[in-house]
Amino acid sequence: MLEVTALPANYGDCLWIEYGDSHAPHVILIDCGLSVSKNLRQKLEALVARGGQLELVVVTHIDRDHIAGMIGLLEKDFFGVPVRDLWFNGLRHLPGEAFSEKEGERLTELILGKGLPWNQDFGGGPISVDSVGAPVDIPGGASIHLLSPDDGLLKRLRKKWIDVCDAAGLYADPLAEHIVESEREGFGGGNAMDVDALADAPFIEDVAEANGSSIAFVFQYGTHRILFGADAYPSRLLASLSAVGEQPPYKFALVKLPHHGSKANVSIPFIKALNSPRYLFSSNGKIYGHPSPEAVARTVRHGKTPELIFNYETSLTSPWNDALLIAQHQYSTVYGAEGTVTVSLP
Ligand SMILES: [Zn+2]
Repeated sequence: MLEVTALPANYGDCLWIEYGDSHAPHVILIDCGLSVSKNLRQKLEALVARGGQLELVVVTHIDRDHIAGMIGLLEKDFFGVPVRDLWFNGLRHLPGEAFSEKEGERLTELILGKGLPWNQDFGGGPISVDSVGAPVDIPGGASIHLLSPDDGLLKRLRKKWIDVCDAAGLYADPLAEHIVESEREGFGGGNAMDVDALADAPFIEDVAEANGSSIAFVFQYGTHRILFGADAYPSRLLASLSAVGEQPPYKFALVKLPHHGSKANVSIPFIKALNSPRYLFSSNGKIYGHPSPEAVARTVRHGKTPELIFNYETSLTSPWNDALLIAQHQYSTVYGAEGTVTVSLP
């Protein structure tokens, strides 16, 4: 079995992956939203009750909507669940001079204080496409092919990280995300939506350092491949995918779109390079107005009869459940309940 569940994470990400034997599946956790949800706590309690472990915990990057819940989770020792390895690029992993005085940043402090395994799959070093070649084997017959970040993107983050820590102490927050989203005003909704115009709106790529530093990858289990885009830049993802040696469009069973489906991270060339029946948009739309109408329109317009999977039903996602639009553009929609949606891959 292979199942991906988007758990309630407000405008952030919290993704729970199960694979292997359905009675005792292997588990991977990617990010933890703004706080530890009741649903996640219950899943972890069930996991510890059956003597399981987290094969991998990935903290994709330092923005609050991915890391804040993870800090809470480490403080609670994952509710007793052992962790095989935790992937996270801390300041020590960013190219440049060694530690800054701000290495006491909260997550780093917790990882070290609790003696957790840290980037063990990379010999304790940085997670970067420039230092990792082959796919990484994960227990249970899965593997992960890294797509993002690269050394240049980590280096950019290093400067930003120090600036932010110096100014505010502790970890960075969405201050780094200085792309101003204005979708709410631009979203007429309903039948008035012009999908072609939205899709063709000018694309300006994300420049936020933290997003660029995102750990994004292809997860493979059996014949299935899933693209987990974190909040990465599409140009970085495309460059990594083209280096794999396959011809586009790249086939995936599921794509978790980068940056919650932001118009600055979902470009037409990116969608055109993918061949997937399912696209996951993870956000409740708060603060940043994700997913952007432009990004959904690009997926609808250039995806191949895509299923749009939204973990929240909001004023930004519900207009896509429109019979006329669906008939016109040949796609389908799935909505989660209160932020939870599970995708079971056949
Ligand atoms: Zn995010």
